[in-house]
Amino acid sequence: MSEPTLLAGLDIGGSKVLAVAVDVSAPDGRPRVVESTRLATGLGPEGVVDTAARALGALTAGLSAGAPHEVFSGVGIGIPGLVDARRGKITHAVNLGVGPGGLALADRLGRRLDLPVVVENDVNAAALGAASHLRLGRIDMAYLSIGTGIAAGIVLDGRLRRGPHGAAGEIGHIPIDPSGPVCGCGQHGCLEALASGSAIAARWTPRPGSELPAGQDLFAAAAHGDAAAKELRDEVAGYLADATRMLALTVDVDLIVLGGGVAEIGEPLRHAVAKALDRQAGSSPFLRGLDLSARLSVVPRDQPVAAIGAALLATEPPALATSDDTPATLDGALTEDLPA
Ligand SMILES: [Zn+2]
Repeated sequence: MSEPTLLAGLDIGGSKVLAVAVDVSAPDGRPRVVESTRLATGLGPEGVVDTAARALGALTAGLSAGAPHEVFSGVGIGIPGLVDARRGKITHAVNLGVGPGGLALADRLGRRLDLPVVVENDVNAAALGAASHLRLGRIDMAYLSIGTGIAAGIVLDGRLRRGPHGAAGEIGHIPIDPSGPVCGCGQHGCLEALASGSAIAARWTPRPGSELPAGQDLFAAAAHGDAAAKELRDEVAGYLADATRMLALTVDVDLIVLGGGVAEIGEPLRHAVAKALDRQAGSSPFLRGLDLSARLSVVPRDQPVAAIGAALLATEPPALATSDDTPATLDGALTEDLPA
């Protein structure tokens, strides 16, 4: 039997699991998804382990192989909640029914599958997946995830920056408006309470007949000239510009990539945030010199970056796509996948 060459990546969310089989041996250095599957998430520690095992089974069946350890050399999992990546343990994953007692996910799934398993926070996994997709190589980047909450994954020199307490990039809980709404964390006016997908949904009701999520509907309504929508869109874009500026001024990354559910708005979101950054730089030669709007990008809609990034973490160091033939450049990363 030949050595397994594929990596498996799982993006476990509160309602569904996306699993991908990734080939990292392509000559262009870019990870290639060769099989994928999606299933509903079972809740509680047992449910999570069981769903992950079933997802691996479905991938293996799709690849016409007998068992996961015959085709995969490792499994990486991106999952919300407090993740101890070193021990492969998660705690306080409220949406998954995992409480303070926690779940030793890497250990339990690894023994069940007879495979090495690594576990990472889902935003960090997505950051790595985005960096690899954009072939950023050693360029420093931040991935700003705007979904139910807001958090950033920071990749420096091709490696995730987790921080000794796992709190690096938790910028969603930086208060930016002391008179703002109470956040789930107990503070007032956190970025997350003002500009996340949930914050948008609390302030914008999709137009009758619209099946779009609140954020997408808001941007569509604004594009159609709705005055209230334009005002809220610009306010949200201003907060996200604040987040971008915080990331650039604290870790001085080359590139800030917008991701998460709200980023499915795509280019109009990047455009609105870039405009807000330019507005903020209008009165500040210091900010103008940093040229933040030119460093902003949005993750391509069809890329399952969290699942791919999780798979890449199953190698150490992570199999971040770089290639000697096609050196990563910031220009390349910025122009790629954007509409002409
Ligand atoms: Zn907060």
